[in-house]
Amino acid sequence: MLFLEPFGVTDEGKVRANNEDALLVGEGRDETLFAVADGIGGFEAGEVASSIAIEVLKELEPGASFEAAIRKANRRILAVGRGDERFSGMGTTLVAVRFGGTQEEPAAQIAHVGDSRAYLLRGGDLRPLTEDHSLVAELVRSGDLTRDQAAEHPQKNLITRALGAEEEVEVDTAVLPVEAGDRFLLCSDGLSDMVPEGRILEILADSPDDPETPARNLLSAALDAGGVDNVTVVVVDVKEQVPREERSSGTREMPAVGRSGDRSSATGRPPAREPSERESTRSRGSKARRRKGDGLGKFVRGLAAVLVVVIALTPAYLWGSSRYFLGLEYGEVVAYRGLPYAPLGLELNEEWRRTDVEKSEVKTPYRGPIENHKLYTQDEIERVLRDLGK
Ligand code: MG
Repeated sequence: MLFLEPFGVTDEGKVRANNEDALLVGEGRDETLFAVADGIGGFEAGEVASSIAIEVLKELEPGASFEAAIRKANRRILAVGRGDERFSGMGTTLVAVRFGGTQEEPAAQIAHVGDSRAYLLRGGDLRPLTEDHSLVAELVRSGDLTRDQAAEHPQKNLITRALGAEEEVEVDTAVLPVEAGDRFLLCSDGLSDMVPEGRILEILADSPDDPETPARNLLSAALDAGGVDNVTVVVVDVKEQVPREERSSGTREMPAVGRSGDRSSATGRPPAREPSERESTRSRGSKARRRKGDGLGKFVRGLAAVLVVVIALTPAYLWGSSRYFLGLEYGEVVAYRGLPYAPLGLELNEEWRRTDVEKSEVKTPYRGPIENHKLYTQDEIERVLRDLGK
């Protein structure tokens, strides 16, 4: 029989005044559930979003659907954001692991949204268990950037998925077999941005006996490297059962909960979305290149320069994914989702809808907005599309 020994630590870092990260270290109804959430949003909004995510997970009953709980957290964050202007636009990343399976085949289920990460240290190797939902990670998957280049990229904090961003959230899940000696790490980007993976591996491998020492050492390494963001680290050790009296107090048994009812596959990662992601990244790039022939107005170029700075300074923000604008492609009006510019070659939009409306058919009031790539919400752009042509 296996049991778990966890330790979690969080710190606001050396630059930020508050800590928008939140963590769960087995204190929920399901004691085998561990999570890290990294909040997004100004003032205290990010803190609210990440703590809502953790509160919802705390309520999760053992065996109940993991993904459903994460979707519920998404809806709750959206609802609170809509009900209170101070929290409008808040969001959070989430990475969580839950242990279960059967006594013969113990397993860990991983779920994540955004760029908080999970790793597994096994047999001296550090295996990433999550792929960031971020623009640079998409570029790594498409072969346009190496992992090392991505780690240095100025737009590395731009995430493409978060809880609280949209009505529905897509959650990546994976199930993997667990064995004694496994060490799991969950962390926010305040660790993974500051400490290279090679160093994370060394620190985890250096103190095999208890999870507290490596967790504290990882935090110190992030702070020593500058600590520019909030840092959260959860280390969970999977150990072989020893007589009860020898065990330290913070441990918990892994119940054999059987299948959780989630839709994840029972072996390794679920069927990867990689091929389609790769395709869409490629095709988006080529579309965007064609569109450049239509030219971005001077105004848009000026705006782009401002927005690049804003985005560079805004941690993990995906405001653009819920914005729409119109452009022309070979004389036809096309609606795009995202933002009408490409900082450092990173396209921040994709084709959303074609209109069959020719440039010459566009009603006068809409000509300027098309030229200037005016930004709309989805409701607004749907109204505009209905009224666009003669
Ligand atoms: Mg962060």
